[in-house]
Amino acid sequence: SRDIRSQLLEINKLAAVYYFHQLRGQNGSTAMNYLKKRELGDETIQRFGLGYSSMYSDDLYRYIKSKGYKDDILKESGLFTYGDGKVTDKFWNRVMFPIMDMNNRVIGFGGRVMGDGKPKYLNSPETKLFDKSRNLYGLNIARTSRKPNIIICEGYMDVISLHQAGFNQAVASLGTALTSGQASLMKRYTDQVLITYDSDGAGVKAALRAIPILKEAGLTTKVINMKPYKDPDEFIKGLGAEAFQERIDKAQNSFMYEISAMEQNYDLTDPDSKTRFFNEVAGRIVGFEEELERNNYIEAVADKYMVSMDALKAMVGNYGNRVG
Ligand code: ATP
Ligand code: MN
Ligand code: MN
Ligand code: MN
Repeated sequence: SRDIRSQLLEINKLAAVYYFHQLRGQNGSTAMNYLKKRELGDETIQRFGLGYSSMYSDDLYRYIKSKGYKDDILKESGLFTYGDGKVTDKFWNRVMFPIMDMNNRVIGFGGRVMGDGKPKYLNSPETKLFDKSRNLYGLNIARTSRKPNIIICEGYMDVISLHQAGFNQAVASLGTALTSGQASLMKRYTDQVLITYDSDGAGVKAALRAIPILKEAGLTTKVINMKPYKDPDEFIKGLGAEAFQERIDKAQNSFMYEISAMEQNYDLTDPDSKTRFFNEVAGRIVGFEEELERNNYIEAVADKYMVSMDALKAMVGNYGNRVG
């Protein structure tokens, strides 16, 4: 029998083409209207190969079956649900986002309900093709971008909106925590990553977790704030591409971002708390190997919090030497 991976690639490709035609057929008008309502143009819909999984619960299964594939391989595709003697499609009445690998081959799907149903997104499970920790949505396009950075955001719609607005260097980690595998993937194509996660608590947490992973991979990291909007998709819709470019230009140094997050645990109006805060900051600055780098951060922090540079420098110099 032929190689399992190449069969799975064929099945995913067939599914993508199938969903693609569904979106453009009679049954696809609701889904098409949904995408239009989300302000996606025809070219964008085409470029990302968006599709629609129909209402009937085993349409795709019957189609792929008719191409001669056997159940043992179909089971491995993650596209179907095997119940007691009954097989149904996994994705049902959803807008479909094919997930491609870096060579533009379809390795999985995300599907979104067209409204407020739950779960909002359904994703392909991991398969022999689809290793979530080693892929980034949109990287197949972003890798050909001439931009000096990669923008990493949370979701499908963020990536697609950003590309439509001209930011063709956007990728998404799709709701999973960023992995070192994904970081080294990006490092192949760029030296700088701009984190543009959602502005909610979960997004801030995810950014703080991503920063050390990106640094570890040797990437310069900055953070872009989407406030007062929730995510890049909504920001672009609200303020447009130029405003987003301004946010890129003003992206915050990731260390300064970490410091700002740390600051939330202290009361800077209280002298003792303020001292403890700067002591924690000093402890972080000590971690930089180069003296020049340490000095630059001492300057930046002193500047931001309007404290004496010399005092902060002394704190950094003495850090760890104190007893008690
Ligand atoms: P939209 O703009 O379509 O409402 P979003 O991308 O803003 O979606 P978020 O809730 O911010 O949605 O989620 C970010 C990403 O996390 C999604 O694009 C998707 O990849 C993933 N995700 C969200 N909800 C789920 C879910 N219920 N199950 C699996 N993955 C999910
Ligand atoms: Mn989110
Ligand atoms: Mn979001
Ligand atoms: Mn969104």
